[in-house]
Amino acid sequence: MVSASSSPYFRDVLGAIPGYQPGRKIEGPDGRSIKLSSNESPHGPLPSVLDAVAEAATLLNRYPDSGAVELTAALANRFDVPEDHLALGAGSVGVLQQLLEATAEPGTEVVYAWRSFEAYPLLADLSGATSVRVPLSEETHDLDALAASITDRTRVVLVCNPNNPTGTAVREEALTAFLDRVPDHVLVVLDEAYREYVRDPRVPDGLTLYPDRPNVAVLRTFSKAYGLAALRVGFLVGHPHVASAVRKTMVPFAVNHLAQAAAVASLAAEDELSRRVEATVKERERVREALVADGWVVPPTEANFVWLRLGPHTSDFAAACEAAGVAVRPFADEGVRISIGTPEENDELLAVAHAYPRRNGD
Ligand SMILES: *Cc1c(COP(=O)(O)O)cnc(C)c1O
Repeated sequence: MVSASSSPYFRDVLGAIPGYQPGRKIEGPDGRSIKLSSNESPHGPLPSVLDAVAEAATLLNRYPDSGAVELTAALANRFDVPEDHLALGAGSVGVLQQLLEATAEPGTEVVYAWRSFEAYPLLADLSGATSVRVPLSEETHDLDALAASITDRTRVVLVCNPNNPTGTAVREEALTAFLDRVPDHVLVVLDEAYREYVRDPRVPDGLTLYPDRPNVAVLRTFSKAYGLAALRVGFLVGHPHVASAVRKTMVPFAVNHLAQAAAVASLAAEDELSRRVEATVKERERVREALVADGWVVPPTEANFVWLRLGPHTSDFAAACEAAGVAVRPFADEGVRISIGTPEENDELLAVAHAYPRRNGD
């Protein structure tokens, strides 16, 4: 086999990108399998959403509406933004790829905190830009260090708020002070994939920050709180020059017809969905408090997951979870991210954590 890096026709950057590793199927003692590894909603689709998808499926022979007219109108209405401030993509990861396609290139820099969302290095590398990773400070974005890392070559700064995988969120005062420091030639992307789970009123909604800041844009997704991870639909809210650039770089028809229909139906069912989100938030607090009471160190989280920094014990803890049929997300030698599931699923995780012979603060 010829490796990507040694073939004359592949870009050098591919040599640094690992191939996709399929997730292993986890099975516990009684065949049980609990997935707390991808920050998904633990609930299946709402009947009204399934109906909309089934109805849309009668048009599988037709191309989707590439302009997503109905969904764009529904989003503009829901979030009270002009339609020309919106751009859609295949998941917010798709939108971010479009955004980097529109902004980044070899010789430029993309700045983000680390550790943060795994898609950032991948997408930055694919764009040809250089990643500048700024270490977290106490599991939280170090906004001073992020601002200090901006150079003439910087095109984009990514701020994941709340941060994946630590769950921590930056507050309004710190974030606006940071935005005030960012020069005009840099676009700041606030990735708010977990916005619906935020309960701390000091954590700002990016949609209130971007209107008077032309170089700030917000990413949102239907994958988490809206429970549509499989369908791949996300969106950007930004000023028209940003949104139109991100629409230009979309692969034609990237947001398929079923996804558009499901997203529209989900916006119409927000009361039902927000009750589910509320239940997840309650469970998040219960899980975190139980872990803390049990001697674990868990940063406060505003997302639908908790973070245990386990350092060298990370893979051992993940293996203990796996043996009990619970899939979590380990980041080797750093820590484990655990999604909030149903109360029963969370109880299983708590039982594993309780029985584990050590604690992460020891
Ligand atoms: C899950 C997640 C997303 C959403 O990705 P989609 O492509 O919309 O499924 C975006 N950003 C972060 C930080 C995430 O954790």
